[in-house]
Amino acid sequence: MTENRGRLIVFSAPSGCGKGTMLKYILRDGRFYCSVSATTRKPRNSERDGVNYYFLEREDFLNKVENGEFLEYAEYCGNFYGTLLSEVEERLEKGVNVILEIEVQGAMKIRELRPDALFVFVAPPSLGELERRLRKRGTETDDVIAQRIAKASEEIALAENYDYIIVNAELSKAVEDFFTIVRAESLRAKNSAYITDEVIKNA
Ligand code: 5GP
Repeated sequence: MTENRGRLIVFSAPSGCGKGTMLKYILRDGRFYCSVSATTRKPRNSERDGVNYYFLEREDFLNKVENGEFLEYAEYCGNFYGTLLSEVEERLEKGVNVILEIEVQGAMKIRELRPDALFVFVAPPSLGELERRLRKRGTETDDVIAQRIAKASEEIALAENYDYIIVNAELSKAVEDFFTIVRAESLRAKNSAYITDEVIKNA
């Protein structure tokens, strides 16, 4: 790892875990870019194309798959979601830390493709609390909520494949945990070999 290359950070959480709010605070820090994914899901009320997602028709999405435009993609609750290479590569080269807010199947593909990425999973304090949060959001039907709760328990069972797990019981503490993880990672010897080179050079 060189001093200038950005870190790829995979950030997963079951829907309704407060991941979006956490990201809002994380992005205010200015050191991170959150990749905008493509999806075949329809936009929710306030979502905008090119900001929250690139909203695509199924056919357009599959064309991009054919053209090799995705780093990874997965099907989740009946819709496709994918990370566009164009969102990631150049930024990493320029030293920007890129966050991929993706579900676990996609995360496990990244694990194979980019073993140097950092994997962070955000869990809710309990499934009951997750259901309360999803109902409060009021953007999904009962059926979709039930589907997402079932999906959440499957995902939580896979959290042990990540490097770190943050329990989002309290927003400010969860955000602080994220920054602590990133800081600790940057100090790992394998990620900071350039520092010892500098120390030796400046003897
Ligand atoms: P939502 O419909 O709630 O916005 O997202 C549903 C799930 O899709 C979330 O777990 C979210 O992290 C995941 N997701 C969003 N973008 C991507 C992506 O590019 N790739 C994959 N694999 N999952 C994604």
